[in-house]
Amino acid sequence: MKQKLILIGSGMVGARFIERLLHEAPDTYDIRVFNKEPTGGYNRIMLSPVLSGEKTLPEIMTHDHDWFEERDVHLQASTEVVDVDQHAKTVTTDLGAVYSYDKLVIATGSKPFVIPVSGADLPGVVTFRDTRDVKIMLDVSDADQQQPHKKLSAVVIGGGLLGLEAANGLMIRGMDVTVVHRGDVLMNMQMDAVSGELLQKSLEDKGMKFAMSANTAEILGDTCVTGVKLADGQVLEADLVVMAVGIRPNVGVGNKLGLQLNHGIIVNDQLETSAESIYALGECVEHRGLLYGLVAPLYEQAQVLAETLAGKPSAYQGSFISTKLKVTGISLFSAGEFEDSEDAESLVYQDLSQNIYRKIVLKNNKIQGAVMFGDVTGSNWIFDNLVTQNDMSAYRDTLVFGEGFQPSSDKKAEKEAVA
Ligand SMILES: Cc1cc2nc3c(=O)[nH]c(=O)nc-3n(C[C@H](O)[C@H](O)[C@H](O)COP(=O)(O)OP(=O)(O)OC[C@H]3O[C@@H](n4cnc5c(N)ncnc54)[C@H](O)[C@@H]3O)c2cc1C
Repeated sequence: MKQKLILIGSGMVGARFIERLLHEAPDTYDIRVFNKEPTGGYNRIMLSPVLSGEKTLPEIMTHDHDWFEERDVHLQASTEVVDVDQHAKTVTTDLGAVYSYDKLVIATGSKPFVIPVSGADLPGVVTFRDTRDVKIMLDVSDADQQQPHKKLSAVVIGGGLLGLEAANGLMIRGMDVTVVHRGDVLMNMQMDAVSGELLQKSLEDKGMKFAMSANTAEILGDTCVTGVKLADGQVLEADLVVMAVGIRPNVGVGNKLGLQLNHGIIVNDQLETSAESIYALGECVEHRGLLYGLVAPLYEQAQVLAETLAGKPSAYQGSFISTKLKVTGISLFSAGEFEDSEDAESLVYQDLSQNIYRKIVLKNNKIQGAVMFGDVTGSNWIFDNLVTQNDMSAYRDTLVFGEGFQPSSDKKAEKEAVA
């Protein structure tokens, strides 16, 4: 008899987990998957290229119904798990159906945060999380193309990674776009003041407008959105408002189960929650006090949990993360601790006439962080050395440049070896 495993949520990490589990422990579990969205799984990251027109929705589907069927996994899409009973070991769906499990895996991701201002629930106000959001944005921007004499306006609230990708997509679709950002540096989680300014200038050159250090007071409109009022009284016209002001772990199921929670569902190195036979992974979890909002570390979690459930020794020990922006023509890279500090040294190369800025922060000759704009040559190498914490003394002279990472002595030795 196979054990019954239920997965709640087949987003990017849930679907990857199933793939890895089928690989690590084929024929071990009878697997049932519930997903609130109408699909099995798609590449959420690629919603930005869909918005900008570089991809289509069918092209980003990764795990459709056939994928599950071919692997004998029961997928119930468009189905929300609304209740769970830890003692009876059952889940209940929004249709009232009850299913029992031996092992339960929660991968419910995050919910986009919506600023609680008046008008936030008006038609034409969307977040940027799923295919439904993108379809609404595409509908509005398509209407824009059908009225060539009137350029429609979009306001994107939030100048972080997602906000800028949404703004770029809408601009490419022909809309007049203003980004409202609370801080004075764009992508302030990933950029310092200099790189943030270069980023803003590059986007302004493409036609994007900005209201910096600005707070949203109210979203205006009667039957649908017509504008955004800022705290200083300024009113921005808007046919579409995109809220991209951050995400919150979706811990609803964990709450119902009475699991130990902080910001996310707390898990140990084996991705076990505080309850027996219940595991969690992805954006909904908190591991060693950290939450991750990028897929690379979450895919590591998927592998560890697959191995754990295959009975193999495995442990997730946390991850370093790096960021890139998916806006054509803009290269930036950011990882680790890149702000100046008393006990760290900053190596900086900048050529502002060329919009190039590269900064690497070292502590005891080990890379703590890096931020690069305009020229990201060698960023993978920098990131690898950040993760491995290699001693970079031998590379100091050339470290900050795109080329010449190897000290001349190494190069000479390499040339001799090749000869
Ligand atoms: C526009 C956009 C661009 C991004 N770009 C990048 C990028 O460039 N690089 C990067 O690393 N990351 C990027 N991300 C973040 C990345 O997509 C997430 O980190 C990743 O999707 C998290 O995976 P997850 O499986 O934890 O959550 P999700 O992918 O959100 O999946 C969770 C799933 O669970 C379902 N669910 C929730 N509750 C229930 C329930 N009760 N019952 C049934 N189903 C439920 C949801 O419907 C959803 O399908 C981007 C995200 C967005 C939105």
